[in-house]
Amino acid sequence: MKLGIVKVKLDREVNAYVLTCSSTKEAIVIDPGLPVGKLADQVKGMTVRFIVATHCHPGHVAGKDELKELTGGETALHSADAKQFLRSADRYLVDGDELEFGEFKLSVVHTPGHTPGSVCFVVANHAFVGDTILAGGIGKQTPETDVRRQMMSIGTKLLRLPLTTALYPGHGPATSLERELAQNPIFRGAGARA
Ligand SMILES: [Zn+2]
Ligand SMILES: [Zn+2]
Repeated sequence: MKLGIVKVKLDREVNAYVLTCSSTKEAIVIDPGLPVGKLADQVKGMTVRFIVATHCHPGHVAGKDELKELTGGETALHSADAKQFLRSADRYLVDGDELEFGEFKLSVVHTPGHTPGSVCFVVANHAFVGDTILAGGIGKQTPETDVRRQMMSIGTKLLRLPLTTALYPGHGPATSLERELAQNPIFRGAGARA
């Protein structure tokens, strides 16, 4: 079995990711922003099982309903962000949920802070982290952001993953937990591991 990961650059500099199981041709779309056509192109010939968002800032979720219409994928959001941003979905995620696509399972890790319902998605050695952590920083602060809580989520949830875990942020380049521990200013000083 083979896991496919394709990064799709969307409006507002948002990275969406399309995960695929090559043996069953099932897919999950993470962060369905706009334009939806770019995402639809990537899932041609695939069965889209889920359309999920790391959080409900518009750039990360604005194409959700249109993509659902085109592909039939089940939409899923964390309930705290659904409430905060008045968004609805077919399913509301909680920490520890597992979303199956073909021979793979995407695990949901609730990492509140950037928004109350921010989540990271983990499969194998890959973590899709939204705006919780970016290469060399964190996502842009908004009125919904609680940075203290975000740091707590990073420290208690993300740092529990293996250091070799690849990180795929909602903006900018991919990185790894190890590289961020060494370079990201948020780890300077107390609390840094390794
Ligand atoms: Zn955001
Ligand atoms: Zn963002």
